[in-house]
Amino acid sequence: MRTVKAWAATAATEPLTPTTIERRDVGENDVLIEIAYAGVCHSDIHTARAEWGDVPYPLVVGHEIAGTVAEVGSAVTTHAVGDRVGVGCLVNSCGECEQCRAGNEQYCPDQIGTYAAKDRDGSITQGGYSTHVVVDADFVLRIPEGIGLDVAAPLLCAGITTWSPLRRWGVGPGSKVAVVGLGGLGHMGVQLAVALGAEVTVLSQSLKKQEDGLALGASEYRATSEESTFTDLRGEFDLILSTVSAELPIRQYMAMLAPEGTFVNVGAPVEPFEVPAFSLIMGGKSLSGSNIGGIPATQEMLDFCAEKGIGAQVEVIPAEKVNEAWDRVVASDVRYRFVIDAATI
Ligand code: NAP
Ligand code: ZN
Repeated sequence: MRTVKAWAATAATEPLTPTTIERRDVGENDVLIEIAYAGVCHSDIHTARAEWGDVPYPLVVGHEIAGTVAEVGSAVTTHAVGDRVGVGCLVNSCGECEQCRAGNEQYCPDQIGTYAAKDRDGSITQGGYSTHVVVDADFVLRIPEGIGLDVAAPLLCAGITTWSPLRRWGVGPGSKVAVVGLGGLGHMGVQLAVALGAEVTVLSQSLKKQEDGLALGASEYRATSEESTFTDLRGEFDLILSTVSAELPIRQYMAMLAPEGTFVNVGAPVEPFEVPAFSLIMGGKSLSGSNIGGIPATQEMLDFCAEKGIGAQVEVIPAEKVNEAWDRVVASDVRYRFVIDAATI
């Protein structure tokens, strides 16, 4: 065991505070990572504030981890000391089921999340708001040269979560895609869809971030506070990707889909959606969801980002600013991902 520094949540209503946690010894298939940066995902906030259910406090969140390999186990052949690596939302899975064999670890019933999950040894996994982490080598991704570790960190969740549905629904040249919500996930979704060749519209609550959205490659940017947005864009999109962290009147969005279009929800508010049958029946539309993505797809996305020169737009913060940053994320006041400098933890 080694004792490392971290910032932890101790209760739903308390700010994060500095602490120490134990990391396991490096097993034969493990990698010890010296964390350089940890992205702040809205899921960290939903989780720590107990919006999704009970929390095993004290808990260290963070599942957008980028750093350098500091030690490898004797059986590890895929990573070496000094390599630039990342860890996303998963740190293990059964490795044997049909889904794992297909590279869809995110569907494995025995998947182990990077934080708040029961690990193989019975302990609760602790995430990336920390200086070091020990992870099974199969769940460690390579960060290609050419992407800074700070801008790479958010790719490990925000990147793969938006990449996965864009690929599943075959987005490419000729696709008309709308991305709802220009936050951490949304700004990655826009960049990735544009790089795949799609024509992209941002649907945001206001026009405050219009200039940024267009600079990210969107060809149109519309405010959902304007009723005309919904009428002007009726029947327009093949795919609507919602990254909204709060309740959304989905029926209004279904009307903006072209026939046989799909609304994919990746945002994770707590309240159920209300969708009238006719908004699906007419036009043969689909409503779907998507959960992060598998390990092979995550590597594919990282390699694609390096090739296309894509990264997250980040605001690097010292750990002591994390509580303030969380409040700003909740207020949709982030451009476009906070990333904690692990050297300040
Ligand atoms: P974020 O940075 O806070 O972005 C969410 C965006 O949603 C905001 O920037 C805002 O964009 C929009 N929004 C917020 N409140 C809204 C409201 N009341 N009505 C309409 N739009 C609103 O969060 P994130 O880190 O990107 O995460 C987004 C959601 O995805 C969270 O719920 C998170 O838990 C979830 N998530 C899911 C997965 C998955 O695998 N499915 C993975 C990671 C995260 P505008 O200001 O542009 O309107
Ligand atoms: Zn996340």
